[in-house]
Amino acid sequence: MPTADLRVAVIGAGVAGLVVAAALRRAGLSCQVFEQAPRLAEVGAGIQLAPNAVRVLRGLGLAEPLAATAVRPDEIRVSRWDDGDLIASTALGERCEQTFGAPYYTVLRSDLHAALSGLLPPDAVHLGRRCVGLAERTDDVELTFADGRRVTADLVVGADGIHSAVRRHLVRDEARFSGETIYRGVIPADRVPFLRAEPRVQLWLGPGRHCVAYPVAGGERVSFGATTPAGGWRAESWSATGDAAEVRAAYDGWCPDVLSLLDAAESVGRWALHDRDVIARWSTERTVLVGDAAHPMLPFFAQGANQAIEDAVVLATCLHDVLPTGGTGAALRAYEALRKPRTDAVHEKSRVNTDVFHLPDGADQLRRDAELARYADLEHRRWLWGYEAESALSAAGGQQGVFAMGRESL
Ligand SMILES: Cc1cc2nc3c(=O)[nH]c(=O)nc-3n(C[C@H](O)[C@H](O)[C@H](O)COP(=O)(O)OP(=O)(O)OC[C@H]3O[C@@H](n4cnc5c(N)ncnc54)[C@H](O)[C@@H]3O)c2cc1C
Repeated sequence: MPTADLRVAVIGAGVAGLVVAAALRRAGLSCQVFEQAPRLAEVGAGIQLAPNAVRVLRGLGLAEPLAATAVRPDEIRVSRWDDGDLIASTALGERCEQTFGAPYYTVLRSDLHAALSGLLPPDAVHLGRRCVGLAERTDDVELTFADGRRVTADLVVGADGIHSAVRRHLVRDEARFSGETIYRGVIPADRVPFLRAEPRVQLWLGPGRHCVAYPVAGGERVSFGATTPAGGWRAESWSATGDAAEVRAAYDGWCPDVLSLLDAAESVGRWALHDRDVIARWSTERTVLVGDAAHPMLPFFAQGANQAIEDAVVLATCLHDVLPTGGTGAALRAYEALRKPRTDAVHEKSRVNTDVFHLPDGADQLRRDAELARYADLEHRRWLWGYEAESALSAAGGQQGVFAMGRESL
């Protein structure tokens, strides 16, 4: 079947689903996106986008909207919880952009989502369509939606997040509760002067907790996240509000910068952090997973969405290059073989950081601080930020990817 005739259904219009749809269109495939929510929207919290993802987004045409709304911080600074003393610093800004060919950005999720939505024609996204069933047959897949409607596709891409309905077609597993909760908020930048003066990703590490803050929205606002042990709290929803006084109390005794940041937050969202164990397979002959549906990970390495963005382009390249001769099954196997080892490693790192970030002061913490300082330079990020999703297939000996061909324009 010519790739242009393939009927692709993408389930979910989060970062993964929207980037998959845009990448498929760029590769000459058409697709329809089905999203359960009645309207396309994202919460106002921030997100960090590393060069490995920004390179992809620029290649899809988002260079201008990102430059207009994101912030390009000068460094990632890791500091101690009590006196704010420096533990480690990674240079970002111009040096990072020169090293990896794309900048490190911090951006409001709603700005990213709006830019991604703008890549698709409005009739490509179907809202209010919750997928509740999937029957894969030899020649096609039948999808069932909560409103009773059915859709037949040649290929289904599950981009429906950590509680993916499509994933259940492949495996019966459960989300794993990390024991951690995160409070998040966005505050006016003039209430956090130390980040306005020096735009950076600021991380403070302390016993049982850590806090991160960075500017977003062209520097007008600051997004922060503060973790604490969750107690009995299990909800995963940004609309669940936390108590600003409660999070402030949980950070009692921390350095003045952390306290002034938390004092500036009038309202906070609260989220109980879950992930899932890695699974052996992400695909069948006609169904495949991307993003959190494939590899939900804890946010302690700030790479979940970055990996989803990489997935999208590798999948589109495999479909473009492998499908015409090998069929959908071969294209999906190529995608899975390219992506799984990498996302498994990032998933592992994200889990390990839960303990590493929260060590009590003592010998292990001193060793950790020394290691963070030793490995803070950009060369130690090359494996992560230098990854070129656009040419992953050709680099592995596959055909020349459609995205690799267009690299000069990225
Ligand atoms: C506190 C926190 C901070 C983070 N910070 C970062 C960061 O700085 N950098 C980074 O890269 N990552 C970060 N992440 C991770 C990142 O948010 C996720 O990895 C990313 O949003 C996953 O995108 P997704 O599209 O795969 O899933 P989702 O964002 O969950 O989107 C799934 C979509 O599918 C829809 N859907 C679900 N079920 C169905 C269904 N049955 N039918 C139809 N539609 C359905 C949902 O409504 C949703 O729109 C963070 C995560 C958290 C919790």
